[in-house]
Amino acid sequence: MSLHRGTQRPGARPMAVNPFYGEADPLGDMVDAPPKHRLPDGPLPPTTAYQLVHDELMLDGNARLNLATFVTTWMEPQAGVLMAECRDKNMIDKDEYPRTAELERRCVSMLAHLWNAPDPDTTVGCSTTGSSEACMLAGMALKRRWALRNADRYPSRTTRPNLVMGVNVQVCWDKFCNFWEVEARQVPMEGDRFHLDPAAAAELCDENTIGVVAILGSTFDGSYEPVAELCAALDDLQERTGLDVPVHVDGASGAMIAPFLDPDLVWDFRLPRVSSVNTSGHKYGLVYPGVGWALWRSAAELPEDLVFRVNYLGGDMPTFALNFSRPGAQVAAQYYTFLRLGREGFRAVQQSTRNVARELAERMESLGDFRLLTRGDELPVFAVTTADDVSAFDVFDVSRRLRERGWLVPAYTFPANREDLAVLRVVCRNGFSEDLAALFMEDLERLLPELRAQSGPLVTDRNAATGFHH
Ligand SMILES: *Cc1c(COP(=O)(O)O)cnc(C)c1O
Repeated sequence: MSLHRGTQRPGARPMAVNPFYGEADPLGDMVDAPPKHRLPDGPLPPTTAYQLVHDELMLDGNARLNLATFVTTWMEPQAGVLMAECRDKNMIDKDEYPRTAELERRCVSMLAHLWNAPDPDTTVGCSTTGSSEACMLAGMALKRRWALRNADRYPSRTTRPNLVMGVNVQVCWDKFCNFWEVEARQVPMEGDRFHLDPAAAAELCDENTIGVVAILGSTFDGSYEPVAELCAALDDLQERTGLDVPVHVDGASGAMIAPFLDPDLVWDFRLPRVSSVNTSGHKYGLVYPGVGWALWRSAAELPEDLVFRVNYLGGDMPTFALNFSRPGAQVAAQYYTFLRLGREGFRAVQQSTRNVARELAERMESLGDFRLLTRGDELPVFAVTTADDVSAFDVFDVSRRLRERGWLVPAYTFPANREDLAVLRVVCRNGFSEDLAALFMEDLERLLPELRAQSGPLVTDRNAATGFHH
């Protein structure tokens, strides 16, 4: 969560209570205007409290017009009903909610099959709050396995474990390395290569490397990293040096796209070197925010001493998680989605999303003002920059102007060694239909003449102009 400081704003006024709201007394002397930044002295009637919160939230953006986020913004009404029915279920309470625990187990098993685990019956996995937690767990397993293999020389003050990855990884990997005191060894971008290079990754490995992370679906441009080629480079490294470095695939988005749309792409447990995989159930797993998944090839990849058994809720189901209590509704909704769509349904939904992305990318390219870096043909996501001959405006101007029409399209600069490159990224999701894409193009085409007429880029405060991009 945002780290909030100084919550008491100087001169903050109390909330204004509309006398027409609910039980508020029309004369205004029954309901005191509640303060905003400290706990009110007394209660409010529920309708008044509801209206106050509801009104403030009206100013949030419209999630369906948000082309920045990967996270699901539309589910069927039935899924909403199911989630409401399950909102009091605590995922950790496996004994009290054995059926929820069973649905979680079935989801893990379905994912093990989907990702071609050699023996799905021995694959271990769990649900998480999202991919970030899943990545922490996977990273911890890598670190612990390395530590167990190197028990003769670690812990020590001079030995520092490292994790190899592309500089384009999602911020959760920087967090993992920071929180768990692992050196992040990042392969920079070079020229037109915007993700991990297998040979460069292998070169960064040494006897302290706990693993290499490959991203299926780079956060920065939606491209798939070459997982099979990475594994081959690490096989070669092992032959030359004896170093046996495992691979974790961060499939936050792509692990729910590639199995349906690119079945011939070999990126998953079919590769013996892939020891674990994560995905975000709440991205292309098509569930509202709050669920991710982590799976290990077999129990051997997940050191037993990381798994906890507690008996104080009854039962002693083993768990591997950072949190204790967690909502169970998202897991029920994930199972619903799997049951509801099946492989064919998932394929159809993801295909139509990718069709929208590819077509929109092409239409943007045909305007002449933009150059595509990716085409929406891997993740349904593409990144564009301005064409070489465009000097009147930049991507930050485009992002700011699109916001006037309600569209959130983030603009940001790439990391090392392509900090010179600034892009717009469009994330297409189920619910961003062909019709909405057409409206988006209309809006873009309407504002382009004004942008072309500028004497130069106008946005100076880039952070203010555009939102987050992770
Ligand atoms: C979104 C994303 C994450 C973080 O996932 P959350 O579910 O938001 O915690 C990690 N890695 C990649 C590649 C991502 O796209």
